[in-house]
Parts: sequence; structure tokens; C-alpha cells
Amino acid sequence: MDKIDILSLDLNELEDILAANGEKKFRAKQIFQWLHVKRVFDFDKMTDISVQLRQRLKEIFCINGLFTQKKLESCMDNTVKYLYRLSDGNFVETVLMEYSYGHSICVSTQVGCKMGCRFCASAIAGFVRSLEPSEILMQIYETERDAGVHVSGVVLMGIGEPLDNFDNVVKFLSLLSHKDGNNLSLRHVSLSTCGIVPRIYDLAELKLGLTLSVSLHCPDDKGRSEIMPVNRTYHIDSLIQACRDYIDKTGRRVTFEYAVIDGVNSSDNDADKLADLLRGINCHVNLIPVNKVKERNYHTARSGVADFAKRLGKRGINATVRRTLGSDIEAACGQLRRDAAEHDNLNGGAVK
Ligand code: SAH
Repeated sequence: MDKIDILSLDLNELEDILAANGEKKFRAKQIFQWLHVKRVFDFDKMTDISVQLRQRLKEIFCINGLFTQKKLESCMDNTVKYLYRLSDGNFVETVLMEYSYGHSICVSTQVGCKMGCRFCASAIAGFVRSLEPSEILMQIYETERDAGVHVSGVVLMGIGEPLDNFDNVVKFLSLLSHKDGNNLSLRHVSLSTCGIVPRIYDLAELKLGLTLSVSLHCPDDKGRSEIMPVNRTYHIDSLIQACRDYIDKTGRRVTFEYAVIDGVNSSDNDADKLADLLRGINCHVNLIPVNKVKERNYHTARSGVADFAKRLGKRGINATVRRTLGSDIEAACGQLRRDAAEHDNLNGGAVK
């Protein structure tokens, strides 16, 4: 029988498995805290558990660790990008960012991505599999351990589409915020989606308190379907309707991500259409100068983003230009990859 991935279990599940194995239920909380508070990932080091039970735990459970394959530090800011090897040999990337208020981490939710957005490096090598809750969580635990920092914000904006791995992502969120475990308020978490409409409704029902970010990138169906294939299934009107529902149900403002790309979505007309589309919605627009992906030829003129923001502002739409961090180590939005070989091609940053 396969061993059970203990780091993907919530406290109730752990209690039930221990009870089914003839153990006392209260042991579950002790073990849960060893894992999620003390971050001890070796049953032999759980010193208040009897030697017999530790042995039994080793027979029943496995601890799904990940290993640092490579670490790159930006020369421009304090951003650090980790390439983590998973227990099956696949890779994911994780980015640690430093802000004035503390550290924020960008985690991956899948190995590769199915969504095929034209401007995004994560889509280039295709999709392998979704991550387990433990594999998303361990990106945080391992990065905190390595960097010696406490992460105060989490963004689900790394490789993969979080709403295409809905159940595991929701489980990850419940573990991340568990009061007997890591206990991070989901107010400090943002989940970014390319717009899988039915799952936005599902997420709204859960009322988790996190910030929903929607990667919009184009104000009309024709243009959006060209750069984001998901739009051929879920058109903009249905996406906006789902966002309105999310805002109604959760009381939270939605963020729209918009990577400004010269000659694709950056004209005055695009800004006007975007303003019309979002008028009256409780939202914020995050403009991103498109980050370089070597296989693609997309650019943004710096002045283009500022002009776009100004034009939106004049039409009553609240927009900010997102600061790009870690672009010299390909750690910026849309630059993460599932492929270890790609890392050998990087020039910038210090390779550890
Ligand atoms: N699949 C999710 C999360 C991963 S991408 C999503 O689509 O939202 C995180 C953010 O980076 C998204 O807003 C995405 O559209 C954006 N992005 C992708 N490639 C980019 C690029 N080359 N430049 C700037 N932003 C990019």
C-alpha cells in the first residue's frame, strides 16, 4: 500500500487515520504542530511521541519534501528564485520577494500549464501534472527555512493555473491558514486566474477572504482569444459576470491584471474599452509592463504603460503600474518555467 502524504492532511483527517490505526486522537494535534509549526519533517525527531508510535507513523505516512536544485539571487533587488525538485523528479519554481512591509512569496500550483497564454513562459513546455497540497505548502516552508525569513504574504501566481487544480489549492489554503498550524490569514493571500469561470463561482461560495486576481490582458473577445486560448471557452462577458458574483458574495474587491503589450493591447482605444468594461465594478487594475520571454517577441514601451494608466484614471478606473522584481533572474511575472535545463541559459543573478 502507498504511504499517505501526511503534509496534505488536515487535522481532522489525521485524527481519523490515527484512530483507525488504534492510536489516540489527541496525538494528531501534536504531530500536526511538529509539521506545521515546528517544521520538523523527520518522525524520529518528534520527541514527545513514543518510539513505537514514531515507528508506526513511518510505516503509514510519508513526508513529501522538496529539494533545492538551484537558487538565483537578483542583482537588482533582493528577489530570490528557487528551482525546487519534487519527489518524482519534476521541477517547479518559487520566488521570494522583499517589500518594505515584509516578505511575499510566489508559489507554483502545477508542473507546467495547460492554458497556453501566448506571452507566458510557463506555457511553453506544456503541462505535466498538478501539485499536491503538500507540494504547494512546502515551497513556502522550505523557502522560509532557507532564507531565514517569515513570509507575510502569499501569491498564487507562479507556474500553473490554480483554478485548474481547484481541490488541492483549496486544501493548501486551509492548511496554510489552519489555526493549529501555520495560521496565516487568507487576507494576505492572492490567487491569480486566467479566468476559469465555473471555478470562480465555486471559489466565491467558499468565502475564503483572499484576493482574487483575474488576468484580463485584453478588453475584447477577439483580441483576448488570440493571446489567451481560455477565452475561447469562457468569453469576457461571462468572466466579468463571475467577477461581479465574486464581489457580491465575498465583499472583496477584484484585481484585474493587464500586461501592456505594444501593438497588441496598448492603444488608446484599448484603454477606453477597458474603462467601459470595468466601469461600476469594485475593482483595481494592475498594469504590468510585459516581461521578456525569449521565445516570444512581445515588448512594452515604458511610456506606454504610464499613458495607459493615465487614460484609465481619467475615465475613473483605478490603476497602478506594478513594480517588476527579479527580471534579471527571470523571476518576474510569466517568466517561470517547469524545465530545469532552461536555468543554465540565464545570464543575470548569482547562481548558488
Ligand atoms: N495562471 C494564473 C497564474 C499564473 S501567471 C493566471 O493566468 O493568472 C501570473 C500572472 O503573470 C498572470 O497575470 C499572467 O497573465 C502574468 N503574465 C504571464 N506572462 C507574463 C509576461 N510575459 N509579462 C507579464 N505578465 C505575465
